[in-house]
Amino acid sequence: NFYDPMDCSLPGSSVCGISQAKILEHQVFRINVRNEDEISKLNQLMNSDNLKLDLWKSPSTLGHPADVLVPSFSLREVKSFLEDHGLEYSVTVEDLQTVLDSEDRKLQRNVRQELSSNCFNYGAYHTLEAIHKEMDFIVKSYPRLVSAVKIGHSFENRLMYVLKFSTGKGSRRPAIWLNAGLHAREWIAPATAIWIARKIACDYGRDLVITSILKKMDIFLLPVANPDGYVYTHTHNRLWRKTRSVNPGSTCIGTDPNRNWNSHFGGAGTSRDPCSDMYHGPHPHSEVEVKLVADFIAHHGDFKCFIDLHSYSQLVMYPYGYMTMRAGDADELDIVAQNAANAMASLSGTQYRVGSVGSTLYASSGNSVDWAYDNGIKYAFTFELRDTGFYAFTLPADQIIPTAQETWLGLKTIMEHVQNKI
Ligand SMILES: [Zn+2]
Repeated sequence: NFYDPMDCSLPGSSVCGISQAKILEHQVFRINVRNEDEISKLNQLMNSDNLKLDLWKSPSTLGHPADVLVPSFSLREVKSFLEDHGLEYSVTVEDLQTVLDSEDRKLQRNVRQELSSNCFNYGAYHTLEAIHKEMDFIVKSYPRLVSAVKIGHSFENRLMYVLKFSTGKGSRRPAIWLNAGLHAREWIAPATAIWIARKIACDYGRDLVITSILKKMDIFLLPVANPDGYVYTHTHNRLWRKTRSVNPGSTCIGTDPNRNWNSHFGGAGTSRDPCSDMYHGPHPHSEVEVKLVADFIAHHGDFKCFIDLHSYSQLVMYPYGYMTMRAGDADELDIVAQNAANAMASLSGTQYRVGSVGSTLYASSGNSVDWAYDNGIKYAFTFELRDTGFYAFTLPADQIIPTAQETWLGLKTIMEHVQNKI
């Protein structure tokens, strides 16, 4: 579990040793961009192949900085570029490997504790295997409400495991799709999703809102939408983002599964370079993980709501992402998103910003919520969970439950609105 800037992702390749990675100090820079000129300077820097920079957070609307992971061997060059061009920056993570090592120690300690207690700790991060095992356990514990829906297998043949919450006894009802973990390194999203699975099961019959939603609608929840990528973040590279599919003609692995949906495929905010973290793939739904979800939803035919959980930045967003054009329902979606953000803030004050993907974050064509919206699912939202960049993708495990609790309030607000509108 280390960060390898060269990303030796070819099967059997092991030229970048763990010991080498450990003595280097990779850092995360927060770079301020105040105008178009500075954005183009930043792009120039990001496009230097030899620097191996990894864009953690794009500079969204002006005034919101970019976060960039700088490998140790590029530190000197990046600093002098930024200083020469007058770009303001600060170092937000001094030594990334120390942060990753500490996260890994906590994870290993939890594995031992769970082995001895035989009890899933919702306040810890888990392997795919442990998450799937807990999903089995939830199905077993609440057989009248929860069932396992296995929609297929990933590129590397891992299960795409969905939980279905239904009181409909087999009749097809209008439905809600909750998605998490499309981007492998965003660990807080699957951790939040599995907590929510348990919460829905537990609260049914106790909490008025969720009970009444489930009287009318089914909820489908996919906690790990990119299982191959997720496993890879545990075994090889904690900061892997994409799928793990092989790209013919390239040594680079994987496609960005949130640029691969059949909606303005290949447009702004995507890359045609298989080595890019925003590679859109050879064609829409080329990634089996994306295709399985898209086909399942299309075949079902009555999804009313689609929510995709990502991290980080603390945002609640709605379509479109392919450009700043307003969706036809933007006014209503904006109000719903704002209500969700208010509900989330009500628990412990965590502030979420609201807007369309394209205007709040950055252009991202071919993303999941644009596809959902274009396919008749009006209530399409994507969340960027905690935090705003202090811990970024390595959000400490002690923030899982607080994050999940506040996110649940936001999701419930949206689902209640959907229920009232259908
Ligand atoms: Zn993401």
